Amino acid sequence: MRTAHRTCPLCEAVCGLTITLDEDGRVAGVRGDDADPFSKGFICPKGASLGRLDEDPDRLTRPLIREGGEWREASWQEAFEAVERGLAAVPGPARAVYLGNPSAHTMAGALYAAPLIRAMGTRQVYSASTADQMPKHVAAGLMFGHPLTIPVPDLDRTGYLLMLGANPLESNGSLCTAPDFPGRLKALRRRGGKLVVVDPRRTRTAALADEHVFVRPGTDAFLLAGIVHTLFAEKLTDVRVPVRGLAEVEAALADFTPEACAAACGVPSELIVRLARELAAAPAAAVYGRIGTCTVEFGTLAQWLVDVANVLTGNLDRPGGAMFPHPATEGPRRRKPYATGRWHSRVRELPEANGELPVATLADEIETPGEGAIRALVTVAGNPVLSAPNGARLDRAFAALDFMVCVDPYLNETTRHAHVILPPPRVMQAGHYDFALLGLAVRDYTRYSPPVLPLEPGRPLEAEILARLTMIASGQGAGADPALLDEMILDQMLRKAADTPGSPVEGRDPAELRAMLTGGNGAELRLDAMLRLGPYGDWGGREPYENGGEGGDGLSLARLLRSPHGIDLGPLRPRLPGNLATASGAVELAPEAIVTDVARLREALGRQAEGFVLIGRRHLRSNNSWMHNVAPLVGGSNRCTLQINPEDAAELGLAEQAVVRSAAGELTVRLEPTDTIMRGVVSLPHGWGHAGTSQLVAAKHPGVSANTLTDESIIDPLSGNAVFNGVPVTLSPA
Ligand code: SF4
Repeated sequence: MRTAHRTCPLCEAVCGLTITLDEDGRVAGVRGDDADPFSKGFICPKGASLGRLDEDPDRLTRPLIREGGEWREASWQEAFEAVERGLAAVPGPARAVYLGNPSAHTMAGALYAAPLIRAMGTRQVYSASTADQMPKHVAAGLMFGHPLTIPVPDLDRTGYLLMLGANPLESNGSLCTAPDFPGRLKALRRRGGKLVVVDPRRTRTAALADEHVFVRPGTDAFLLAGIVHTLFAEKLTDVRVPVRGLAEVEAALADFTPEACAAACGVPSELIVRLARELAAAPAAAVYGRIGTCTVEFGTLAQWLVDVANVLTGNLDRPGGAMFPHPATEGPRRRKPYATGRWHSRVRELPEANGELPVATLADEIETPGEGAIRALVTVAGNPVLSAPNGARLDRAFAALDFMVCVDPYLNETTRHAHVILPPPRVMQAGHYDFALLGLAVRDYTRYSPPVLPLEPGRPLEAEILARLTMIASGQGAGADPALLDEMILDQMLRKAADTPGSPVEGRDPAELRAMLTGGNGAELRLDAMLRLGPYGDWGGREPYENGGEGGDGLSLARLLRSPHGIDLGPLRPRLPGNLATASGAVELAPEAIVTDVARLREALGRQAEGFVLIGRRHLRSNNSWMHNVAPLVGGSNRCTLQINPEDAAELGLAEQAVVRSAAGELTVRLEPTDTIMRGVVSLPHGWGHAGTSQLVAAKHPGVSANTLTDESIIDPLSGNAVFNGVPVTLSPA
């Protein structure tokens, strides 16, 4: 037996794990890493099942090639040659890339997706971001100048937290990296703070809160607008950071009185006013909105209003408020105007955001013939047939592609349409660093997890798979050496740093810097460079670890390797205005695109709520579609049920099952009557609907896909995000 320590890659909480392995490398146990300064031993059922997930016998171990409708195993070289032939037959503009959610949890996804996209020579780029958090990126880009400059609630010091559309007792948090999120919320209440949860369901998080506010799905923007209106009307504003556009915001929201907003969102006007007063009066408060406020038709407006409220109450960038993390690999962010819509999708003319087009239009771009129609697709760690709106249509569209290659460990509902599947190795065989999630952490913290197990001879890491795909897509062939790509990227990174005035290595020789880097592969070398160039790096004047021995605190890969439990870099510190990348150097409170979109919100002010609407639901033992083949995570009672208020069920004469219909499709689903959901709302988790795959456990617990009902024609126009919450449906007895 031996133990290894590494970060859990299964959700955004980045918990440290202590893993016990037997002499054959099999995982004998997983527990929380007590010595991790951030997670302090916390673990959830998903993390505890990491060994089962990693050793799943249904994971592919060799590439698969589909010929004449039959799958056969192939060698890696044969598979890459098949990819070369498939991509060569399709010109760049007719190629597309889709990146799934787990891409954000791997070094390979973080480091090699961008080069792959560039090499594909296409603007047809899609990801799970437009089925999730793109509104947050767009609002952050417009307000702070960079789509990753996202403030997070300072959970450990706040005295008042207004949380909308988030259920961290199930999800463990999102766009707010906080291991043991539940414990941090309990601590907030223990120290006398107040937690208010706004949600159409009385979730476990809402049950923990001091106050739960029911809100009609999709209308959080009205509630927030009413709060902001009240802050202005009652002269409760206390702006402490440099801003532009204060008067424009006040004017734009003049019509959003608490009374008007109450009618639109279902929250009483007195309560809207009280929430505004409480936010303003709290010594330190934060507003935090997440998926329920993103995946709606006013998603970007809701994210904007969250941070307008934080600014107006003096809580942006102050301890206990909403603060900006300072991650160890953050590079300089140039000041320039952020904009979306630099190009548009071919069929529906939807604007790009962050270089991506909405996944809600992916099927249009495949099915609609003409120049630029997608004929070849590369997917990485994604199952959009289950996770994107109107997945049934995508299922049909993928079947018509000329060529599809999937980097994925499973033959699943999406990858079954591939011509080649390239399976990455086990989690334990790859190094792990959370480039994205550590930039959203409620404490500054860093940790690298080296591989725990060796690779089988000839088996490539996911990083190498993506590097080889990049070489193939750029025309260098299946035999090209992927290490050349790493060297090229390193050279560019070091040259740019040496040429940048004010950089920690300004004027130094890139070749000399390259010689100083350490790492066992390209991904580690690139991590070393980013750490050393970063705000805590040893190239920035901090004492190098190697020279200082125990005392040197400058970050490098070597230092992280000697700190297997991670390194606490301290509580969040105020960063404004230095971290703003807006052209003005101030927080833009009234970006033109947002103010223009407020007119759409105003038009909807008088809209009457009619009929039933569908919302999603998260469960502690699940994460999208990718954990349903692990027996301990899917056992017990059926979780893929439609929650409905018992009074609604009785009125409609619904018993065990119901037929649910939307503009996109219909489902027959088992009912779960519960008074925890408000009337007029039904809830179905997504990621289910397993069918026709080789995932044997998932096939025994198939459930139904909520994305049979979601409608790809409805999006948040500013971000292109799909609408999953507030989908109109009708119900009838099965
Ligand atoms: S909360 Fe997330 S990171 Fe922590 S153990 Fe569970 S799945 Fe892993």
